[in-house]
Amino acid sequence: MTKGRAEPPAEGHFRMHGREDSFARLTVQRHDRAARSRRALKTLGITWGCAVIAVFLPVLHFVLVPLLLVAGPVLAYQKSRESVTLLTATGPCPACHAPQDHRLNAAARERLVLRCEACGRALELWPAAALLEPSASTPHKT
Ligand SMILES: [Zn+2]
Repeated sequence: MTKGRAEPPAEGHFRMHGREDSFARLTVQRHDRAARSRRALKTLGITWGCAVIAVFLPVLHFVLVPLLLVAGPVLAYQKSRESVTLLTATGPCPACHAPQDHRLNAAARERLVLRCEACGRALELWPAAALLEPSASTPHKT
């Protein structure tokens, strides 16, 4: 298994300055410790693999190879810390009430800034606090 556990829909809120919050339904993917390690190693392998390929690109290799060699561990560390991935967010816009359907595929954070697909205004997505707790799927050993 290389994928995280499938989860029932989670909750959050769309927020816009001066408007009442609206409910957001989120689909999420949780990653246990083993899944996070696999994702980190995969990220490291891809970036360093690209660095090896970049060695053969004239001139560009002076920039790309060091950049990819440094970016690999940084991105892998970020993946190793990502316990919840937000896949999609749906719900009404707080201003125009148009249905939103955002494909996120982003690490769960306290707040994500999006843009309404209908009225174009900036829209904040606030996932439920329970999604941000790192121990939700991986209980710590004491
Ligand atoms: Zn809108």
